[in-house]
Amino acid sequence: MIRIELFSQGEEVVSGQTVDTNAAWLSRRLVEMGFEVTRHTCVGDRLEELVALLREIGARADYCICSGGLGPTRDDLTAEAVARAFDCPLQEDPEALALIERCFSRWGRPMPEVNRKQAWLPRGAQRLDNHWGTAPGFMLQAGRCRFAFVPGIPSEMRHLFETYVKPDLEARFDPVPWALVTLRTVGIGESSIEEKLDATELPNDVVVSFRAGLPEVHTKLFFPPDFPEERMRRCVSEAAKAIGPQVFSIDGLDGPGGGLAEVIGRVLSARHQTLAVVETASGGLIASQCAGREWFIESAVLQDCGRPTALFDLPLPDTGDDASASEAAKRLAHSVRAGAASDYGLAQCADSDQAALNDPEKAVRLHHALSTPTSLLWESGVVRGPLQRKQIMAAALALDLLRCYLQGANLTRG
Ligand code: ATP
Ligand code: MG
Repeated sequence: MIRIELFSQGEEVVSGQTVDTNAAWLSRRLVEMGFEVTRHTCVGDRLEELVALLREIGARADYCICSGGLGPTRDDLTAEAVARAFDCPLQEDPEALALIERCFSRWGRPMPEVNRKQAWLPRGAQRLDNHWGTAPGFMLQAGRCRFAFVPGIPSEMRHLFETYVKPDLEARFDPVPWALVTLRTVGIGESSIEEKLDATELPNDVVVSFRAGLPEVHTKLFFPPDFPEERMRRCVSEAAKAIGPQVFSIDGLDGPGGGLAEVIGRVLSARHQTLAVVETASGGLIASQCAGREWFIESAVLQDCGRPTALFDLPLPDTGDDASASEAAKRLAHSVRAGAASDYGLAQCADSDQAALNDPEKAVRLHHALSTPTSLLWESGVVRGPLQRKQIMAAALALDLLRCYLQGANLTRG
């Protein structure tokens, strides 16, 4: 197995000021390419720690990508640590210096003397020109390990990875990517999905993993490089069938996949149909997900659909219980559809007031209604946890009612 490691350098990362998105991004890219990443490590601005870690990695890994610490300031220690760890003193690289000077002259500023430091690279290193910033990266063989050093700034890190590191990895190891197919669901937990998949006969060499996010759970099926395509399609369709109608889209197969708003948008755009919405618990999140699309007309955000509103001139029942909240959602769905002259009206009402939404200990039952050109559909679902979590789930459950209708999926929710 090829041992690939990632190493993030920076006091701000170890101290929790900066989240290590570089390692996450690099890992995802490497896995997509067909590699396995064996370790992530992170060290602050301490020379002796850096030197020790570089030596350890140099002795155990085949490839290591390090991000950060290439800047001009005193706390940027990566190049110096490399020089000490592998006995390759720093030397000024005239071309690197010229590039840094050119960078400053493009910005119309004189180059501060400290930036000269960025042109000093370990002896024997191959320079990686950075066209998006001042810090050049570099590559170096040390013991069994090939090291690639890239800047910490995420855009520059990605630029150097795509331009130099990825081609270098491909040339050295000729990786063959696994095919990844992602089944996207809302309203069903990963443990239920796992149970349902256990009842199917997915081949042993298909690797299944879950990513439980908010509001979606992603079921990831990894297929080995030589897995026949026809068989892969059969496995995916069997898995989707086993999970059930909560699967709203599939990424990585033939179709375009995407999130709820994209799935809904594709159908509405193709049919030249439109949507208007009344939201309560989702607090405007439906609008923010649909804004700017030609099929989306409007969304009204009500704090409490039991209260009289200036937006809708209609009698609404007091929403203190399930039956009246459901009734209010139905009336609002009709009303918003009629008022906006849209094809669909989608409305949301809660069975309790804002205080319950704000209370992380309290669950809130939401009632959703969808008014279509020919019918009225409704359902309810429970959201739990802190306000933000409830809002995100509320938006997803509302949109999912419309998605189910548009896809002809038959869903019963408790
Ligand atoms: P610079 O020229 O800016 O000094 P550098 O290569 O020295 O570049 P750092 O100083 O380590 O990089 O980090 C610069 C910025 O990049 C940080 O302030 C932070 O915003 C971001 N950054 C650094 N490391 C990471 C990381 N691992 N994940 C996400 N962002 C990071
Ligand atoms: Mg820096």
